[in-house]
Amino acid sequence: MKTLLEGLRRFSNDVYPDKRSLFEELSRGQKPHTLMITCSDSRIDPNLVTQTEPGEIFVVRNAGNIVPPFGSSRGGEEASIEFAIEALGVTNIVICGHSQCGAMNALMEPEKVASLPSVEHWLRHAAATRRRVQAAQNTALSPGEENVLVQAENLKTHPAVSAALRRGTLEIFGWIYQFEDGLVRIYDPSKNAFVPSSEVKERALSTPHSLAL
Ligand code: ZN
Repeated sequence: MKTLLEGLRRFSNDVYPDKRSLFEELSRGQKPHTLMITCSDSRIDPNLVTQTEPGEIFVVRNAGNIVPPFGSSRGGEEASIEFAIEALGVTNIVICGHSQCGAMNALMEPEKVASLPSVEHWLRHAAATRRRVQAAQNTALSPGEENVLVQAENLKTHPAVSAALRRGTLEIFGWIYQFEDGLVRIYDPSKNAFVPSSEVKERALSTPHSLAL
């Protein structure tokens, strides 16, 4: 707690004054351009990785960056996705998985979460990921990568998402953040592979390529 209190003081005394005009503007409302759905893992900092400021990215986080199919959980993910699109008007959704994901390890080795019933129950929303990985032994995609694609498909079952895709006002991207080298890999539907962000401009999962996944 001491660490947190020191941080609060430093933020109020040093950081806030440095960006006062930005924070004053944000106090009047938000207009984020992107909804990021990522893992709760403490090693992921969406603003740091994307070099964006507060107010730019609306974030949904949970173990395994999972998007339950519409109607299957009636939980906070569903509400946050609807709000981000319909109320805030985000034009991008990024599903960002990462290397060394504990949720993906647990998904592939369920015995590891035998003593964590809530985790085991939550990971049922990623059962398709396990099935895909097990069915395609030769796939180049890791469980974390496969999961990003599965969750993108789940995302498209949400009415707000499908309506925005039909309007052409929304694009969906799949990312994997690698802790080992700081690289973010972006899904390229034409290659069915996650490629370094430096190699792509924009590859949307919502293109005709992805609909055939
Ligand atoms: Zn994770």
